[in-house]
Amino acid sequence: MNYARFLTAVSAARQVSPIRAMTDLLMRSPPSVISLAGGAPNPGTFPFKSATVTLSDCTTIEIGEGLMKKALQYSATPGVPELVSWLKELQKNLHNPPTLTYSPDQGQMELCITTGSQEGLSKVFEMLINPEDNVLLDAPTYSGTLAAVKPLGCNLIGVPTDQHGIIPQALKDILSRWRPVTAIKPEKNPPKILYTIPNGGNPTGASLTAERKREIYQLAQEYDLIIVEDDPYYFLQFNKPWAPSFLSMDVDGRVIRADSMSKILSSGLRIGFLTGPKPLIDRIILHMQVSTLHTSTFTQVMTLQLLQKWGLEGFLEHIDSVIRFYRTQRDAMLASADKWLTGLAEWYSPTGGMFLWIKIKGVQDTHQMIMLKAISNEVLLVPGSAFTIQSTEASCYVRASFSLSTPEQMDQGLQRLASLIIEERK
Ligand code: PMP
Repeated sequence: MNYARFLTAVSAARQVSPIRAMTDLLMRSPPSVISLAGGAPNPGTFPFKSATVTLSDCTTIEIGEGLMKKALQYSATPGVPELVSWLKELQKNLHNPPTLTYSPDQGQMELCITTGSQEGLSKVFEMLINPEDNVLLDAPTYSGTLAAVKPLGCNLIGVPTDQHGIIPQALKDILSRWRPVTAIKPEKNPPKILYTIPNGGNPTGASLTAERKREIYQLAQEYDLIIVEDDPYYFLQFNKPWAPSFLSMDVDGRVIRADSMSKILSSGLRIGFLTGPKPLIDRIILHMQVSTLHTSTFTQVMTLQLLQKWGLEGFLEHIDSVIRFYRTQRDAMLASADKWLTGLAEWYSPTGGMFLWIKIKGVQDTHQMIMLKAISNEVLLVPGSAFTIQSTEASCYVRASFSLSTPEQMDQGLQRLASLIIEERK
């Protein structure tokens, strides 16, 4: 892969900060080294001493005095090394990326920890997207992504989706406006990236099948696209075996994958991680060196202590319990939807994530209905227009979340939605 072709001028111009490079060196040096180099504060002056965190099974993780000093200090930009290693091992176990054994220039798999996957994604977009670039993405898609990419001045091209995510033929049709990279004459402004949420999509709850992923990867090869795989709902796939990821198919080093601990350990800890070809992850790290410096050491240490206590097996057992919760919630919401919305709306059963995407019949634009009338009917949902490329575009959809409400609340909420629809149609 020629990664240089994909970089924005700003990203290509980033250089290593000498101080940050020293921090990384110090982290790897033996304890006998006397460092007079760092500008770090003395943690002996910090008011925090130690912490005991009680887990939901009533066991504890201890952050003793020594570890606490480390947890409160600056740390390496790519992440606390032990946590980076743990997560690399996790990626190896779950995805076994072909790039694991490649040389760094070839696009060897690399990983860095980010402050939630949102930080990683926004830096990926700033690394790859120039004004006027054509960018392909699921239509509709996550509002946080639209908010991150729109100001970059690119041309967003929505790829039609259904309950199984991006429709490969639709992607093919869009790409046929350009010629494959094998064509002799280079095309003007061909798309360089395809962004997709492969599992339990936000807002649609759609999940790509393995077959579709293979077809899409092949198209990415033909048109030399980088795939940005935004997969925060990977661990919330209700059916096993889980679909293989784009990362697991990445023979070329053209996939950047964003993972998140937000839906399974904590959203407030802000732990996400990017996995992708080293030349690109290195650019992201350079960006972090001048912005966040690194994700909070304290939350990384807390996460690491938990993961080391659990091991991979314990982690996956925890995931299973989270899945059981969301599957039950989904079923409760589906039962209530059947009860109240039959004839008024259409939906499908999501196989992952936390959202039901509801198409309201006989209502052109749910934005008006929600913004003006929903509160007085004591129910709130997100209008579909929040997820369209042109936010002024009318949408007949609403997004209902089954993460926080009890089955009784969901039932009452959908009953209220039903009366709202009936009122709106009058
Ligand atoms: N991508 C998608 C599709 C999301 O739904 C979210 C969270 N709403 C994120 C990224 C960001 O998640 P976080 O930064 O908490 O990892």
